[in-house]
Formats: sequence, C-alpha cells, structure tokens
Amino acid sequence: MKKFLISDKGTFYKANLHSHSTVSDGELTPLRIKELYQKNGYSIVAFTDHNRFVTHNDLTDSSFLALNGVENAADESGKGWFNRCCDICFIALNSDRRIHPFQNENNVIGDGEKSPFETEYTSECVNMMIKKGVENGFFVTYNHPTWSLENYPRYMSYSGMHAMEIFNTSSFIDGYNEYNPDIYDDMLRGGKKLFCIATDDNHNRAPGTCHWDSFGGFTMIKSPSLKYEDITGALLKGDFYSSRGPVINELWIDTDDGSVNIRCEKAKKIVCTRGGRRLRAIYAKEEGKEYLTGAKISVNRDDIYLRITVFDENGLTADTNAYFVKNMGIDFESPDLFVE
Ligand SMILES: [Zn+2]
Repeated sequence: MKKFLISDKGTFYKANLHSHSTVSDGELTPLRIKELYQKNGYSIVAFTDHNRFVTHNDLTDSSFLALNGVENAADESGKGWFNRCCDICFIALNSDRRIHPFQNENNVIGDGEKSPFETEYTSECVNMMIKKGVENGFFVTYNHPTWSLENYPRYMSYSGMHAMEIFNTSSFIDGYNEYNPDIYDDMLRGGKKLFCIATDDNHNRAPGTCHWDSFGGFTMIKSPSLKYEDITGALLKGDFYSSRGPVINELWIDTDDGSVNIRCEKAKKIVCTRGGRRLRAIYAKEEGKEYLTGAKISVNRDDIYLRITVFDENGLTADTNAYFVKNMGIDFESPDLFVE
C-alpha cells in the first residue's frame, strides 16, 4: 500500500517564507515584493518584517497569498562583530490574527505596533519566544544559525519550533555557508522533531551589490487550495519540501515492501540520510542514466528517521522533511526485506 509522506492530493504552491519590506529594513514595498515574486512563479510570500507584526491581507487574491508574520531576535551585546543572536520568524496560522505573538490577548495592540517583549541572548529567552509563538497560533521557524554564529550547544538548547531554515539565500549571498543539513541532522539526532524550510530572507537592496537576495531558496507547499488556513494547515502537517532548484513530485512509503520512494526531476544524485551512519546515495552515472527521476530505498527499523536530498547537475539541492520510522506504518514483523 502507498502511504504518502507528502500528500498526493492538492497542488504544490511555491513559497518564500521569510522576507523583509519597507515595513522594516527591506528595499521594496510589500506590493512590489508581491509583483516580483508572482512574476517569478511564486504564489505565496510570508511578510516577516523585523519586530513589527503587520497584516497584509489586502495583497491576497485568487492567485497570491500573503502570509502575515514577524521576525524577532534575541541578540547578544557588547562584543561588536562577535555578537551572536537567535532570529525567529512567526507566521500567523490565521489570517485574522492582529496581535504580535508576544502580546497578550488582554493587552491588545494594533497593526504595526512594536514588540513589547524585551529579549536577551539566553536559551531561556529564546525558548520563551518560541513558546509564546506556538501558544499564540504561529508557525515558528529558527533562522540562519550560521549567520547568527550559533553553535551546537546553543541550538541544541532550543526546543519547540516547528521548523528550521536549511537554507537562507540572503546569508548565503553574503558569503556564509547557510546550507544547514548538518545542523538539521544534529537536531534530529538529538531527538528534536522539526521540519526544514528554504527561504530568501530578502531585503532587495540594489541589484549589482551582493544583496540581490531573491529567488535562491524556496518551499513547495502541497495544499488543497491557496486559502490562508489551508496553507498554514499544510505547514503544520509538514506537507512541503525545500529547494534551491530541483523538483520533487512524489514521496511515499510502500508499506508492502518497506521502502521509501521518491519521484523527482533531472537528479544526478539522490541521498537518503538516516539517524545513524547508514546513508544511501544513488548516482545517475552508476545506473547508466543521464538523470534519475526517482529512487526506491529500503527502510530499517533502526533508522529512527530518514530524509531525502535530491541533487541536480549544478549541485543544487531539494530537501524533504525528516520522517520518523515509527510513524511510517511499516510492519517490521513481516518479511525480511529490510536488510540492504
Ligand atoms: Zn530576516
């Protein structure tokens, strides 16, 4: 039986889940961002300006969805260029949400008010930010750990976020190695259950400088429709994958033979990363093909989790979320098919 890990129903919508406009330090107005992204094949942009939670429902129409969000930071101070920070994006799960995630329902502030929550660079504060976001109905993401100079003990001390940025275009363009599969695996191996997203974090400062930071990393969301709550529902379910180019069409478990199966386009290499050391890499060259269009990979009870990365001929990647083997519905008591 086929059990789909990314729903077989609905449509894939291309999304940028982290962006900055003139509401904070971005160069473009929200409307201009909408126009630019629509022209480049996107259906969804999350507006996540710094500190100020501003709604953009007026930009939503039948072919475009504006998600309402905000980015808040916990910054270290006093160390100049060595200051570390932790940046978190909060995307409202409901379009009628008007209140900043740190604000109490009884202490209402209107659109555009600054966050009243004083942050400091401690794990306790970051975990409080995440908790408030989740409790108040937001999809909470942990952003660009490399740019933030965060290290293993720091990011392992955070918990409860829905997703982390496996790729951030703006940071990558600035020269940081902001493709973070290792940090994602650190977290998963440390027992954290979270999804991964690829975003632009665009500020769109003038082209020709190193800040033309749109259209690098995106998230493909599978949803029954482009309606606000359908899309945020798909985010909560993990019905999406992240990419810098390659396309994933289908991802499913075959419960009969205990395999995970992927269908994709023009892949040169497909890698299955697992909880332990037993990775699996499949190369087009080895199969005698110019490109791979899919793979079938056996699942072992001991894998704990697995996730798949598709590489194209330029080395660009598409990453699935991590899936936990015990939730896959495979009956490991049956056949002996699980040893490679
Ligand atoms: Zn940002």
